[in-house]
Amino acid sequence: MKSKITAFAIFMVLILGWQYLGAWGFFAHKRINRIAVFTLPKPLFNFYKSHIDYVTDHAVDADKRRYATKDEAPRHYIDIDHYGEDPFTNMPRNWDSAVAKFSEDTLLAYGIVPWHINKVYYRLVSAFKEKNIDQILRYSSDLGHYIGDAHVPLHTTENYNGQLSGQKGIHGFWESRLPELFADDYDYLLPKAKFIEKPLATAWDMVEASHAALDSVLLFEKKLSESFSEDKKYAYEERGQAMVRTYSLEFSTAYHNKLNGMVERRMRAAMAMVANYWFTAWVEAGQPDLVPLQNAELTPEALKAIENENSLWKIGKWKGRPETEVPDSTQQ
Ligand SMILES: [Zn+2]
Repeated sequence: MKSKITAFAIFMVLILGWQYLGAWGFFAHKRINRIAVFTLPKPLFNFYKSHIDYVTDHAVDADKRRYATKDEAPRHYIDIDHYGEDPFTNMPRNWDSAVAKFSEDTLLAYGIVPWHINKVYYRLVSAFKEKNIDQILRYSSDLGHYIGDAHVPLHTTENYNGQLSGQKGIHGFWESRLPELFADDYDYLLPKAKFIEKPLATAWDMVEASHAALDSVLLFEKKLSESFSEDKKYAYEERGQAMVRTYSLEFSTAYHNKLNGMVERRMRAAMAMVANYWFTAWVEAGQPDLVPLQNAELTPEALKAIENENSLWKIGKWKGRPETEVPDSTQQ
């Protein structure tokens, strides 16, 4: 019976193309960008508030792009443990020095998220200077996405889906399943946005803090799995019209308790950082008056580009490594 259900679930997923996207899942990315708006100081708050639906909805465009182009994937992570015992000392923070030491091919193969955050940040500064509404909104949304990713411990390791430690599926479990189940109870009262002195160094700090939490992410799941049988650990749930295999509510609750607020802390840190980067970009651009852009609409070209991206996402194939699938019982 069980194998029949499994086969049915896989069949439904294939037919319906259920897309369980990586990187905080759609739910958490959207929430991170949305809540970030509320920590901004007045003139900037007014601007983002009037475009809050845009930065919320488009918080996930960067992940959608992973279906269209293979260049997109490495922007979302860095497998820092690839670089030896003491990777944060080994790895130069500056891109050119890192390329000189490890080669661009290697950096692209193991991910570039901190440098990409810095790059998008400077694009946002330019967009503010030019008062270009299309670009301000696009880069704000994307920057929020990459900052969100950098706060996820499993975005900092070669063992990104527990595939090297017999914990396949943990990626989506930590960053999608747990927030979807528990994030409504998190505390979203955050301090006011602050100016960032060194955007690149700060991006590295995020990665370092995420990586420091990685041991617990893996260890707690491993320990807990010892006291749960397979059929207690996993359950089938309806997603739309599909039945999918996922971590059971009981196992998810036990893991979430064991993490002792970690998901909430990383999510809150991400929200605060997103606001800090938006604010800093605006200050660096000379604090342009955004009132004329408050009710501005996107240009037809920008709307067309979004439409194109969306259609590629719907028909495209995930280009990058598999992050989120929960394994079939035979694969564990
Ligand atoms: Zn991502």
